[in-house]
Amino acid sequence: MKTVVIGGGPSGMMAAITAASKGDTVVLLEKEKSLGKKLLITGKGRCNITSSLDMSEFISNIPGNGKFLYSCFEEFTNQDIIEFLKKHGLEVKNERGNRIFPVTDKAQSVLDCFIEELKEKNVNVRTNCEVVEIKVQNEEVVGVYLGSGEVVNGSKIILATRWKKLSQNWIRWFWL
Ligand SMILES: Cc1cc2nc3c(=O)[nH]c(=O)nc-3n(C[C@H](O)[C@H](O)[C@H](O)COP(=O)(O)OP(=O)(O)OC[C@H]3O[C@@H](n4cnc5c(N)ncnc54)[C@H](O)[C@@H]3O)c2cc1C
Repeated sequence: MKTVVIGGGPSGMMAAITAASKGDTVVLLEKEKSLGKKLLITGKGRCNITSSLDMSEFISNIPGNGKFLYSCFEEFTNQDIIEFLKKHGLEVKNERGNRIFPVTDKAQSVLDCFIEELKEKNVNVRTNCEVVEIKVQNEEVVGVYLGSGEVVNGSKIILATRWKKLSQNWIRWFWL
């Protein structure tokens, strides 16, 4: 099974890692020249990774209907992200307000852990690749078109970009 992940931010990188862990051949497409550009500015460049609160307190601090997120937080907890970073040699620290930061105080160290894991999982990372359209044949998604006109084939597409940037055409295909 070939999976195409669109967007090389934290969600796309983690989706690519997860799909590859399950045995898929994965290509991660990022329109910028490097991965995780926004991640690098988080927490004023230090990246507030997560919270040290336990899950019920964590959920109750989410504005709106936090309970809606129980199932996904059960799948991957705040402790899981800490363990993931530790596995790549990055320790974290707990600061005022239960905020967890990397001990390095650098968001780059967090990004480096993702990049290392992508390599370990043999994810094919392609930067400078903007996806402009989903390719559909016989009402089945078969890949994506890049701005260059190239087609990247894949039977599964994971969209990890903001919806507001998508055209109506994309949305139409995702409802198929
Ligand atoms: C100033 C600031 C500080 C923040 N601080 C924190 C913090 O400390 N802790 C925290 O948890 N969160 C923080 N956030 C929020 C955090 O940045 C986002 O929640 C996170 O980046 C979302 O990740 P994402 O992968 O969903 O999206 P993004 O990080 O936006 O990644 C999406 C990626 O998709 C790429 N892309 C878009 N369109 C296409 C296309 N058509 N083809 C290919 N690639 C495409 C983009 O270039 C981008 O790399 C902060 C946000 C800001 C703005």
